[in-house]
Amino acid sequence: METEEYYREKIVLRYNEIYEKWYAGFSNIPKAEIILEINGVGNTGYLHSENKIIFRIPDGNLEDFEKNNFSHYPVLWETELLHEMLHGYQFKILTQASLEGKKFFKNYQVNESTPKLFKDVSGFSGNGHNELFYTAIANFYQQYINNIEEFIKHYI
Ligand SMILES: [Zn+2]
Repeated sequence: METEEYYREKIVLRYNEIYEKWYAGFSNIPKAEIILEINGVGNTGYLHSENKIIFRIPDGNLEDFEKNNFSHYPVLWETELLHEMLHGYQFKILTQASLEGKKFFKNYQVNESTPKLFKDVSGFSGNGHNELFYTAIANFYQQYINNIEEFIKHYI
């Protein structure tokens, strides 16, 4: 049985790889602290005020940590990392929504009154999934797959 720190370091390594790409044009943007709670209660989330990503991983998903190369679709912890890093970028960098971000928000937000153009692509419930979040998605999704709906469904 590996230690919690073993798994946390895998997340930190992947975080650092993505950070180098996403923040290449910026200086002095602090990296988030990665906290891992195996069998923690609740969802994984990004705490903007403390700049922490708190992972809560059910024990049964630990084998996913041995498949961590985005070879097909990313595994759960990778999708959670990307999702929370999009929130980090949203809060640390973005002040204005892009046209594409606004369009994606309109199409893919969770909102029953919004006509769903693509029924099987659901957005994200809870706070923070606004036009700026979708602007972060618009900035980066093509680094992973050249299709916005596949990205929303399988990568975050
Ligand atoms: Zn979210």
